[in-house]
Amino acid sequence: MQRIMFAGCLFLASFAAAYGGKLEGYADTPFLPGQPWRVHDKLRPAPPVVTPAPYVRAEPPSDAVVLFDGQSAAAWQGAEAWPVRDGALIAEKGDIRTRQSFGDMQLHVEWLVPQPTAGGHVAERGNSGVFLLDQYEIQIFDNYGEDTIYADGMAGAVYGQSPPLVNASRPPEQWQTFDIALTAPVFTGTNRAPGRVTVLHNGVVVQNNTVLLGTTQHRALPVVTPHPVPAPIRLQAHGCPVRFRNIWVRPLTSAEKALPAKN
Ligand code: MG
Repeated sequence: MQRIMFAGCLFLASFAAAYGGKLEGYADTPFLPGQPWRVHDKLRPAPPVVTPAPYVRAEPPSDAVVLFDGQSAAAWQGAEAWPVRDGALIAEKGDIRTRQSFGDMQLHVEWLVPQPTAGGHVAERGNSGVFLLDQYEIQIFDNYGEDTIYADGMAGAVYGQSPPLVNASRPPEQWQTFDIALTAPVFTGTNRAPGRVTVLHNGVVVQNNTVLLGTTQHRALPVVTPHPVPAPIRLQAHGCPVRFRNIWVRPLTSAEKALPAKN
């Protein structure tokens, strides 16, 4: 299926045209805990559209770990199946993961979605994602100026859990940015401190210290389960040649977690 979708993107790219339609959500999925909305709820309102300021390149600070500098994808496992072209790493076959693991972090990722393809399925619209701790997807999708997908599947969503506060997307073929601050979950005995995430999409806050309800699922409730922390960052191959560049991360030490344990 993925291969067919990718072929569609690739071979029809030259016939790119405005593609209408929306990936409708669902009315038969479970309700998110404590919320009036179902997972991928078709009735959940789309966030308002905000036009971001023009792109400004964010160079890595001195203490950043550079994960992709436009040339070498050596920091990524599986990247031999992702071509590097014109300074961009292009999603192709299979998800890729950082060789290094990260917990609490500041992460900068730049991405670009292709033009929608004539006759293509709406699910092909720049579908990719950044998985934090290999488990929690911050969605990448082409929803420039409109709701082309259910709210919790839009760009900047915690997929299946939390729609972006606003739709700050740029058009296809323009570079977009995610700046992400993650507080990793803590699994200690039966006491679980859930993870939290803040996301800026093109410089605009779209997740504000959002609680991660559980690991990312499709059409199902997030799953609360212990998993390794730290863990790799994962980029998703979802059938469309989304491009990535200028990826860097700053591991963070949480002041709270650094405090000595209370007696
Ligand atoms: Mg995705």
